[in-house]
Amino acid sequence: MAIKIDDIPPEGLSLELANKLDLFDTRPAIIDFKALFSIKPSGLGIFQVTGHSQAETELECSRCLKPFAYPIDIELNVELAPAGSLVSGAEHELDRSELETEFYRGDEIDPVDIIREQLLVAIPMVPLHDVNCKGLCPVCGKNLNEADCGCKLDDQGTFGAFSVLKDLFK
Ligand SMILES: [Zn+2]
Ligand SMILES: [Zn+2]
Repeated sequence: MAIKIDDIPPEGLSLELANKLDLFDTRPAIIDFKALFSIKPSGLGIFQVTGHSQAETELECSRCLKPFAYPIDIELNVELAPAGSLVSGAEHELDRSELETEFYRGDEIDPVDIIREQLLVAIPMVPLHDVNCKGLCPVCGKNLNEADCGCKLDDQGTFGAFSVLKDLFK
């Protein structure tokens, strides 16, 4: 849903969205999200987007590969500037240090794009279904959260291959 910037009044627009979006381009993950936010012009074609968004995502544990639900709940605080406006943007006197700046093209703003970007930033680089996830056995591939596979760990907690080296130094 794109909004024409000419339709945004000086006092801003308040919007509520509840919809689905494709969060990850790489896989067909359509997630539900909600957002309550406002878009307010602050001059020179720049808009402030502030509000709140929640989404239900499903991530894959980076240790055991199990899919798990990961709810996201974020504050939106984004400055939207027209693409190619870096020079004029630098002239205005707002303290922008705490704001994220994004760019829009033409005369329309798509709030779903902005929300999508902010949700992506909130996703951990190394998702874990549980901080104590034991992962998969590097020897046999068994999920160690479900059962111990019995592969031998030596007394230093590393797997067998190194014990050969240790014998060499005796
Ligand atoms: Zn896991
Ligand atoms: Zn094993």
